[in-house]
Formats: sequence, structure tokens, C-alpha cells
Amino acid sequence: MVSACLAGVNCKYNGGNNRNEKIIRRMASDVVITVCPEVLGGLPVPRIPSEIRQDTVINKAGENVDQAFRLGAEKCLELALKEEPDLIILQSRSPSCGVNQRYDGTFSGRLTDSPGVTAALLKENGFSVVDVEDLLSLEEIMEKPYRIVDILPRQVSAERGDQYSRAERYFLSEDRVTRLHERYLDLLLKLNCYEDIRVSFDFGDHWELNPEPESLKRKMVDRKAPWTLYAVFGSDDMMAVVHSDDTYMTIVNPTDDFPGVFGQLVQAEGLFLWEDGTGPGKASRNRNG
Ligand code: SF4
Repeated sequence: MVSACLAGVNCKYNGGNNRNEKIIRRMASDVVITVCPEVLGGLPVPRIPSEIRQDTVINKAGENVDQAFRLGAEKCLELALKEEPDLIILQSRSPSCGVNQRYDGTFSGRLTDSPGVTAALLKENGFSVVDVEDLLSLEEIMEKPYRIVDILPRQVSAERGDQYSRAERYFLSEDRVTRLHERYLDLLLKLNCYEDIRVSFDFGDHWELNPEPESLKRKMVDRKAPWTLYAVFGSDDMMAVVHSDDTYMTIVNPTDDFPGVFGQLVQAEGLFLWEDGTGPGKASRNRNG
């Protein structure tokens, strides 16, 4: 579900839109529902801009438009409950859609760290709501610094390449690799106890929020065809990537407090978190240097 103005719909107060190319690209490959809470609440286009002052929405002419904003938010919630979107992406700073911030009610351009009416209601009801400005594309995330979780504690030198390849083939043999994938599955499920995880198996064309453990197991452990898992944690854009034919997991764009509990869980699974591999650049699939 996305703010309609991000999809290029002319529903802004001034009759324009906030067309966003990342959103348009997602719309080509995903089922996307567009909503404009202010229009759903019965307000016209164009309309007088509004802000929230002391929990009441008023427009710049001083009229109380709170009811229309609350009605629009309720209608968005109804739709979200019916359609169960995996992710809701909303326009920044709006008195309806703002997720992290909104204008402070003085019509002076000043911001306050509170959400708009619709974003707040959707979040209160447990939906995964993201500010469009916090949304990096997968390609952008893949260019960020990364860390490696592996069965070995550090990179293997090039001279040890033959031995490394033999050992890797063994660890990727059918019975061994199943056990390895179970460890990565357990790691993700334990992390999911602490924060939301959005998972995709097709480079972000389709995401599932907090998938059922059994469904993840079917895709990671029971499936014979090759797969790549992308798992984004919380709203931070930190992402884990695992390929079915590799023995390691890449953690791209680690958060400031990384590794924290993640590091403890890696250790508990008998895996290692490499100290290096933190420089910017694409995570390499060839990790024997
Ligand atoms: S209410 Fe939301 S969708 Fe509608 S114009 Fe404002 S920011 Fe865009």
C-alpha cells in the first residue's frame, strides 16, 4: 500500500503529486494499492493545506478539518485490514501520511518528530509502515558496507584455495547443506523475536512480513531448487542475504548497534561473524581471497 501522490496521482493539496520512481518501479512488479487519506476523508483537490496543532488538524484558514482527516485514516485502516499489505510506504512530513515527522502546526515550515494521523493509526494497528525517504532500493542497500557470517572465522588465503574448495564442496553436499540452512533459518527466526523481518526470495519483487516459520523452512530447507533469501530487519534497511549454494550469509548495511544480540545468536549457532569485510562495496560471492 502506498500514498497515492507517490504513485503520481494528482491528489496533493495544490493539485500536484510526489511521483517517486522507486515506487513506480515497484508498481510494475508488485500488487500495489494506492490511497490518499485526505481525499478518502472527503476533502477536495486542490484544498487549503493543513497541519496538526495540539492533536487537532486545522487548515491554513483556521478551519477545523480534523473529522475529515480521522475519517480518511479510518478508511485506510479498513482497507489495510482487508487487503493485509506486507508493507505500507507513505509520503514524508504530511499531516496524514508522515511516518517520522510532520509540520508542527504553525505553518512556518518547522517540523516535529510525530507521525501524521493515518501513519499513526496504521502503526498502532501493527502494520509495517515506512517513510518513503527511508526506503532504499535493494541496489542501494547492496552498495553499503557489509559483514560476513560464516562457518569459518576469517577469510581463507588464496594459497589455500584447493583445500578450501574441497571443504566447501563437502559442506555444500546434500546432507551437510541442509543442516547449514537450518542454522541460518534458526538465526533468522530468533532475530524475528526481537524485530520485524521482511523476507523476499526474488530480489525484492515480493516481500512477506514476519513469515510463518514453517513457510520459511519450506523455502530454505526443504526446497531442492536454488534460492536466494533477502531479509530486511526492522525499518533500518539492514539486510541479510543467503544463497542456497553458499556457506555464508552477508549482512549488508549493518546498524550502528550491530552486532548486539545478532552477534550473540551467531555465536550460539556455532557460526562466526567476520571482523573484516566492513568496507563499502558489493558483497562478494567469492570469499577465499
Ligand atoms: S494525504 Fe498522503 S497521499 Fe494524499 S496527498 Fe497527502 S501525502 Fe499524498
